[in-house]
Amino acid sequence: MTRPRVVIAGLGETGVLTAVRLAGRYDVVGISTKPSLVSGQELGLRLTRPQWWARDYHHSFEALRGLDRVRRVHGTLTGHDLAGRSVTVTLADGRTVEEPYDVLVISTGVSNGFWRRPGLESADEVAAGIDDAHRRLAAAGSIAVVGGGAAAVGTAWNAARVWPDKRVDLFFPGEVALPEHHRRVWTRVRGELEAAGVGIHPGHRAVVPAEIDRITDDPVSWSTGQDDVHSDAVLWAIGRTSPNTGWVAPEILDEAGYVRAGLDLAVPGADGVFAIGDVAATDPLRSSARNFTFKLLARNVRAHLEGRPLKAFQPPKRRWGSVNGYQDDGLVVFTAAGQRFRIPRLPVDRMVRARVVDRGYYRGIRR
Ligand SMILES: Cc1cc2nc3c(=O)[nH]c(=O)nc-3n(C[C@H](O)[C@H](O)[C@H](O)COP(=O)(O)OP(=O)(O)OC[C@H]3O[C@@H](n4cnc5c(N)ncnc54)[C@H](O)[C@@H]3O)c2cc1C
Repeated sequence: MTRPRVVIAGLGETGVLTAVRLAGRYDVVGISTKPSLVSGQELGLRLTRPQWWARDYHHSFEALRGLDRVRRVHGTLTGHDLAGRSVTVTLADGRTVEEPYDVLVISTGVSNGFWRRPGLESADEVAAGIDDAHRRLAAAGSIAVVGGGAAAVGTAWNAARVWPDKRVDLFFPGEVALPEHHRRVWTRVRGELEAAGVGIHPGHRAVVPAEIDRITDDPVSWSTGQDDVHSDAVLWAIGRTSPNTGWVAPEILDEAGYVRAGLDLAVPGADGVFAIGDVAATDPLRSSARNFTFKLLARNVRAHLEGRPLKAFQPPKRRWGSVNGYQDDGLVVFTAAGQRFRIPRLPVDRMVRARVVDRGYYRGIRR
């Protein structure tokens, strides 16, 4: 008997986790423009300590044991036949193929700045992109980070810590940064930024230039009236995301181009189609990339194929997680209620990394 075929569109963070959970049980095909898992997490670590970051956040697909039973297709999704249940892929060598599915998981994520681009890349190109951005910042005498979310805040803090001789400034439009976190988080993080020597500049709304998908060095002007700022390197982390859905059947997209999905991750009106991660408009924070929702998705795919009812997840009202990333002394995590706790390095290495992430998430990593 042939097994149902599950196509995972986009092998980023959530696509990989979902594929690992479904592999073996079904005929799983994973399609991605990258030959590796390039995480969207911890931009600050990636830019300042790329090798340290890569140990946790960049893995070739061959290294992930959980993907051994997933057929991987390196190419760009270009079309979606909703009624005919297939997607179109332009392969790295230019050929075009159709991939039929019984279940489709849409996990193509969003584009955001130079660090999350959906284009087709080889392993060397991915590595060069990470290295170039690091070198660019390392060579700068002064760094301005524009933005008030976790990517901006974590980048400013990491840059100030790794390069104490550089001037690092953080500019954001509101009175507080991290507005989607509990208020207490900013109070704590602000103290850490000050201790690291970061210049903190609330009330600065930048005039955004046409091209912010790279580190710039032009003066930054402010629609809020302050003097222009001149820095050797300006990093734009203003959360200007756009969904990678140019290939998806338009009937299942919302007005902003995200995939309409319920809290059970199923796409209404599209039998057998699910969406997860930053591309899925499940809740206002689009939080299905976090909160272990990949486990729910794997369960719901099985339930769908076996004719059982689906379950829903409970989206948090606030963001939670780490802001500065895994450091030499461990990992600081903020809860949705604003509590801060630090897991020292040894337990992080032995428990979180080795057991939860390496073995639990990926079924083992070949280092
Ligand atoms: C375990 C875990 C913990 C997390 N913790 C935190 C945290 O503490 N704080 C926080 O802020 N966030 C956290 N996040 C969330 C994270 O920052 C992002 O939200 C997450 O990386 C988004 O994953 P994604 O799969 O939606 O997108 P991505 O990882 O960006 O994957 C999308 C993939 O699809 C590919 N793709 C795009 N278009 C195409 C196409 N046309 N054809 C083929 N491939 C394409 C892309 O190249 C990419 O590989 C966490 C996520 C996870 C899984």
